[in-house]
Amino acid sequence: MTHRYLLNWALLPQGWARDVAVTVAESGLVTALAVGTAAHTGVSAERVAGFTVPGMPNAHSHAFQRALAGAAEYRASARDSFWTWRRAMYALANRIEPQDLEVIATQLFIEMLKAGYTSVAEFHYLHQPRDSARAADAARASDSAVPSPGNNALWEAVRRAARASGIGLTLLPTLYQTADFGGAPLRQEQLRFRMESDDFLRAIEDCIAADRRDPCPSLRTGAAFHSLRAVPMETLHATALQLRRVDPTMPVHVHVAEQLREVEAGRRATGLRPIETLLRSGLPNEHWCLVHCTHATRAELAGIAASRATVCVSISTEANLGDGIFDALSFLRAGGRLCVGSDSQSTVDPAEELRWMEYQQRLRRKRRVVLASAGEAHAGTELWRSAASHGAQALGQPIGEIAAGRRADWIVLDDNHPAMAGAQPESALDHLIFAGGAAAIRDCMVAGRWVVKDRRHPQEEPIRERFAALLRRLSPAPADRA
Ligand SMILES: [Zn+2]
Repeated sequence: MTHRYLLNWALLPQGWARDVAVTVAESGLVTALAVGTAAHTGVSAERVAGFTVPGMPNAHSHAFQRALAGAAEYRASARDSFWTWRRAMYALANRIEPQDLEVIATQLFIEMLKAGYTSVAEFHYLHQPRDSARAADAARASDSAVPSPGNNALWEAVRRAARASGIGLTLLPTLYQTADFGGAPLRQEQLRFRMESDDFLRAIEDCIAADRRDPCPSLRTGAAFHSLRAVPMETLHATALQLRRVDPTMPVHVHVAEQLREVEAGRRATGLRPIETLLRSGLPNEHWCLVHCTHATRAELAGIAASRATVCVSISTEANLGDGIFDALSFLRAGGRLCVGSDSQSTVDPAEELRWMEYQQRLRRKRRVVLASAGEAHAGTELWRSAASHGAQALGQPIGEIAAGRRADWIVLDDNHPAMAGAQPESALDHLIFAGGAAAIRDCMVAGRWVVKDRRHPQEEPIRERFAALLRRLSPAPADRA
């Protein structure tokens, strides 16, 4: 069954258009699009008031960390940093059961939909059941083999949450094998993240086979390498080539150069900075997404741009963790492809990510409207359109634009909301990003189905209660706050 819509105003790849007639197939893909009411003469269509724009792909998320948002803002030492925050994050990771993860992720994904993220790349390194950490420890102590995973209940929890919320998902099972450069063994609190490379490849192939048996238009399987700290380069190289044989267009993500300490450790261990190591491997291409790149040289940024890989920044997380400032202007001037994500979920709001992408540059350069381009004077339109289309590339899904052949993943801005007062179509995204935030988002569609209507998701009330009860149980014990 097809659905027809008449969008009052829509942001198309070529710019804003009025009275856009769109036909969406049962698969969720847009099959026809025409501008002008004549296209729908004699055909009944649902009229969509307000400003319709492409939904934002969230290119970097660790769903379980939503349970830590707001709970790690106390001062644990005089030298609080990413590394002290990581201790609280590990303590949480080691408490979570699959059913907990499903509740957290469902709550989070509903929050994402209401904030304008219509799909998410879930960078997922929680693989082993809770008991396995102790089992692996015992096996290590007795010199026997570490047990193989054989349990994807945690992966399944993320997939179930995506289905329950209606968000699009690119699941990125993540290889994580070492504690630092040079093959340092995982620490006790990292044992749940471990997978052997062969098990990892087999489990990804199983996921892809399951996707084919039970196709869902908004679900895809990719892969990730946690970082060059967590995967030795020879293993990363060999595994990446094997993944390419499984699916040559598979999205592959990796954290890199988030922390200065990581860049320095990489240089000490290998003589090269981590981004240099990745670029020299020749692996990054348009299917790769490099997450953070906070501490990159101009030459590294130019190298990433030339590889056609995307960079995903999550400025809310990078600011929360005190990582540093990504040089967005240099990257964009080099032709770089930039997208955004919610990462640690300290806040979940694409408008905030884009606002701070621009504001970091204004503060640094003491100018206004830095990231608009010669072809697009409005910063809001430029930032949103560019992050949506590069986010689509990072997720490996046909999204990010309102166009024939793309999936109908849209959000609708309420032109009656005070944040939109006085907005013209050209300035609607300026109002969203710089004046109104998510409050002006009225409706959200994924794969041709309204998942948020009049600011309400049908599952939000029941899941909110389960989430609140779970967080009371998971709240960090005083002992973890050291
Ligand atoms: Zn991350």
